[in-house]
Amino acid sequence: MSTQLRFRDLPMAQESLASVTAVGADGVVVTDATLFYPQGGGQPGDRGVFITADGRCLPVHDTRKGEGGDVWHYLDPGHDLVAGQSVTQQIDWPRRWAHMRMHTALHLLSVLVPHGVTGGSIGAERGRLDFDLGEASVDKETLNAGLKALIAADHPVTSEWISEAELDARPELVKTMSVAPPRGAGMIRMVRIGDIDYQPCGGTHVTSTAQVGALHVASIKNRGARNRRITLAWNQTAEGQA
Ligand SMILES: [Zn+2]
Repeated sequence: MSTQLRFRDLPMAQESLASVTAVGADGVVVTDATLFYPQGGGQPGDRGVFITADGRCLPVHDTRKGEGGDVWHYLDPGHDLVAGQSVTQQIDWPRRWAHMRMHTALHLLSVLVPHGVTGGSIGAERGRLDFDLGEASVDKETLNAGLKALIAADHPVTSEWISEAELDARPELVKTMSVAPPRGAGMIRMVRIGDIDYQPCGGTHVTSTAQVGALHVASIKNRGARNRRITLAWNQTAEGQA
């Protein structure tokens, strides 16, 4: 039995009840369902706490994909959780919220820079995408104006599922050359941002682009002859990371 991925349908949920189904080595705890996002697609695994019925807070240091569709939560080795026990899962929301805003902003960046993505990474402080630009060039001020406009337009962010066969028939939907779309059970999760972006993605996102807030292009760096690394960071003067 695999872990039900509650963060997929409930990206804004911060707390939920789950039942321990297995405990493993290194403090690993598996539950029947989880709000904790496991590291993948450039987005870090969630941190937070599991709260026991008698009110103890057990820190979760990291979350990874385990075997057979399980999600592995890394607690302190030596915890006393056992299968069958109920826990309240509470994610480190400020950190996850920053990941969701940053992740969504990187989708917007891929709209503004319509070239193949060769790499990327999402952090709470900074996020980046590497593009294979070929002979094209990008300009920081133009990108910042574009990003600001896409955020202000408040496009809705939604997700849906299509079949692997449907995606295979439309290879142009895959922008990321370095990361294969998450596959399983014949279905692919697609993320749609208004009518501007539609691509396979298994991560967590805000629900409308205005929630991205005050992010800007911090740097554009050469990574070889064809590649450019574009890094986003929070505005210091505005709302910051709040
Ligand atoms: Zn995404």
